[in-house]
Amino acid sequence: MIPLDEAQGYVLERVSQLPEESFGITSARERVTAEAVTSAELVPPFDNTAVDGYALKAADTDEASESNEVTLEVIGTIPAGTQPDFEIQNGQSVKIMTGAPLPEGADAVVMVEWTRQDESKDLVHLSRSAKKGDHIRRSGEDLCPGDQVIDKGTALTPAHIGLLAGLGIYQVNTIGRPTVGVFSTGDELVEGNEPLLPGQIRDSNRFSLVALLESDGFETVDLGLIPDNEEAIETTVREGVAKCDALVTTGGVSMGDYDYVKVVLNNMGDMRWMQIAIKPAKPFAFGVVQGVPVFGLPGNPVSSMVSYLLLAKPALYKMMGRKTVFPKVFHGIAADDFHRRADGKTHFVRSFLHEEKGATLLSPIGKQGSHQLSGMAEANTLSIIPDGDGVTKGNPIEYFRF
Ligand code: AMP
Ligand code: MG
Repeated sequence: MIPLDEAQGYVLERVSQLPEESFGITSARERVTAEAVTSAELVPPFDNTAVDGYALKAADTDEASESNEVTLEVIGTIPAGTQPDFEIQNGQSVKIMTGAPLPEGADAVVMVEWTRQDESKDLVHLSRSAKKGDHIRRSGEDLCPGDQVIDKGTALTPAHIGLLAGLGIYQVNTIGRPTVGVFSTGDELVEGNEPLLPGQIRDSNRFSLVALLESDGFETVDLGLIPDNEEAIETTVREGVAKCDALVTTGGVSMGDYDYVKVVLNNMGDMRWMQIAIKPAKPFAFGVVQGVPVFGLPGNPVSSMVSYLLLAKPALYKMMGRKTVFPKVFHGIAADDFHRRADGKTHFVRSFLHEEKGATLLSPIGKQGSHQLSGMAEANTLSIIPDGDGVTKGNPIEYFRF
C-alpha cells in the first residue's frame, strides 16, 4: 500500500492545464480566468440616489424634525434612466427615484419615508434633516477605469459574471474546462427497471459520478455500461480519448480474475495500478492514453465516489486551472465514538455534520460498507480517522464536506 498523498502527487504530476479559450460569460461559471480583467469604465457611471426621495441642499434641512417640519419647493421629478436638466437652488428640491442621476446643485437626498408631499405637489414637508452626501452613490465608488476587476486564476462565481456583464464584457479568456467521459464496467451490471436476474445488480456509479462531475462544473459524456471484456473496454477507451479531455471508469481495478480495466490501460498507455492506504477506495489505476488521463476508480459505489473526490477531482481541477485542488479540511468535534482498528489505512468515515450551540459536531452514519450507498446519501461529510483505534466522543476530528 502507498500513502494517499503519494498517489495524489503521482496523479497531479501527470496532468496539465488545458489550453485557454475565449468563452461567453453566460456559461463561464466555475471556469478559471486566464488573464486579469480590468475596468474601462466608472461604476456607477454617474452620481445617483440610493433611495426614493427628494434631492436637495443638505443645509436647507438643518432645522427639520418631526415636531418642526421644513418645507421646500418641488421643482420636478427625476425617474431612473433620465438626465436631469435643472439645477437646485436654495429652498428647492426635486422628487427623485432610486438609481436616477442627482441633479446639479443637490448634495443630499432625504428618503421619501421622512417626507410628506403637499396636496399642491409643489411643496414637500420634511421631518428629518440630512447631511451632505446622504443616500448618494458616487460615480466610480464601485470601480474606476484601470481598476482590476478580477484577478488571473479566479474561478468565476455568479457575482463575477454579473460584474463582467455590468461592464459590458461578455467574453472572457478562461482555462478550458475538461470534458470527462464516464463508463462503468461489470458483467453483473444492468440499467433499467426490469426485474434483476440472478447475480445482476443495477449500475449506480455512472449516475453518481456524472452527477458529481456536473456539480463540480465539468462537462460529461456518458460512454455507457461496458462488459468485463478487454476488447469492449479498449474500444470504449479509444472512443473516450478521442472525444474527451479525461476519462473516469469504475470497476475492474481490483484483484479479481475479470478486472480488465487495469489490463487494458496497461496495454494502451502508461498505467500505474495502486493500492492506496485508505478505506474505502483502496484500489486505483491511473494511466495516460494518447495524452488523456484515465482514472480507474474502484467498483464499489461508495469507493468510486470517495476515489473521485480524493484523486480524480483534484486532477481535473488542476486541468481547469484551479489553484486549490484538494478538498478543504475542517475541524470539528466527535459527537459519538468513531471506533476503528489499526490496519495501516486512513479511514474516510461517512458522517453527519450538525451545529449545536455554536459547536461543529460529527456523528458517524450507521451504514459504513463501501457497497452501502444509502449511508453515503445520508452523510454530508467524510470524517478523516487516522490509523489507530479511532476518535472517542468529545475529541477533535478532521473532516471535509462533499
Ligand atoms: P469491482 O471493482 O469491479 O471488483 O467491483 C467491486 C464491487 O462493486 C462489486 O460488488 C461490483 O458488483 C460493484 N460494482 C462495480 N461497478 C458498479 C456499478 N457501476 N454500480 C454499482 N455497483 C458496482
Ligand atoms: Mg467488476
